[in-house]
Amino acid sequence: MTALDLADLTKSYPDGGAPTVRGLSLSVESGSLTALLGPSGSGKTTVLKLIAGLLTPDTGDIRLGGRSIRDLPPEGRRVVMVFQNPLLFPHMTVAENVGFGLRMRDVAPNEVAARSAAMLEKVRLVGLGNRRPVELSGGQQQRAALARALVLEPEVLLLDEPLSSLDASLRDEMRALILDLQRETRVTTLVVTHDQTEAVILADRIALMLDGRLVQHATPEVIYGRPVTLAVARFFGGVNFLPGRAAGGIFHTSIGPLVLPTGVTDGPGTLTIRPEAVRLGPGREARPARLVSCTFLGTQTRIELDLAGTRLQALTTPEALRGLAPGQEVGVTLPTAALWVLPEV
Ligand code: ADP
Ligand code: MG
Repeated sequence: MTALDLADLTKSYPDGGAPTVRGLSLSVESGSLTALLGPSGSGKTTVLKLIAGLLTPDTGDIRLGGRSIRDLPPEGRRVVMVFQNPLLFPHMTVAENVGFGLRMRDVAPNEVAARSAAMLEKVRLVGLGNRRPVELSGGQQQRAALARALVLEPEVLLLDEPLSSLDASLRDEMRALILDLQRETRVTTLVVTHDQTEAVILADRIALMLDGRLVQHATPEVIYGRPVTLAVARFFGGVNFLPGRAAGGIFHTSIGPLVLPTGVTDGPGTLTIRPEAVRLGPGREARPARLVSCTFLGTQTRIELDLAGTRLQALTTPEALRGLAPGQEVGVTLPTAALWVLPEV
């Protein structure tokens, strides 16, 4: 079931320039965790503010459970947003911060206390309710902000780069907490991130924004293996791009003809293959290549190959490379099933 529906949203800021959000449509399934991914400045925070009601769209509609919430005030939307910077009230205790929204809704004091305490336990801040925000670490402040949002039992939770201000070890912890809480509460969640690895780890589905537009909304696997444009492929860490032309199921390119999977339309395009799909060693379809360089990455080794003057990157295991050194010849296979053609050159 669709929980949240953004329909052709456009938003410009008053100081002119191109619109920050351009004709963005996105349907988010009820209970899902979606990553809104895009580089800095692509309009992600603006989209969250539109959903939360902190900004009004120039055109388009926002529906929750099929009903428009476009003209409702933020507090009437059942949507809560957690900002990149936690923004806790400094003069209140942590527990008071968490209970704030409930008090504003005239919930009875004993119920506020009980629900706040339960939520502090869920975000693993037991015993810290009487502290002031300044007495918490950055990670604890983030968790308090998450508790303050979730205690309101929203239909939609919006998290704006919840991990970006944390260092690596805290990031793992916070990520796990977000995943646990989302699974437990099943609140429809939109998490903003500019980090594609983070998006892949966190989300069921990724909504990818470039330049104010939604360019692809799919599972991480699909965006990874079948990006819709060259820009998506590049943003997702694609490195192997071979310009050429598809004709009758064959892609003609600088390294020779390659058999394509079915369904590729004839015409000019760019062939891409993920580095981990490139196979090394002898084989019926193998073509000769020269090993240019190897970079040891721990469990994997990144290698650069030269195929008739064209460079390709591959990821392989240190074992598969045993006995091979830069400068040597090696057979390379680009399996048909792993080839993907982008319609642009
Ligand atoms: P992101 O969260 O993806 O980094 P934002 O939604 O914050 O992107 O911003 C997208 C663009 O909109 C940026 O180029 C930014 O300069 C512009 N922008 C954001 N907020 C404002 C504002 N309050 N006034 C004018 N321009 C803004
Ligand atoms: Mg932002």
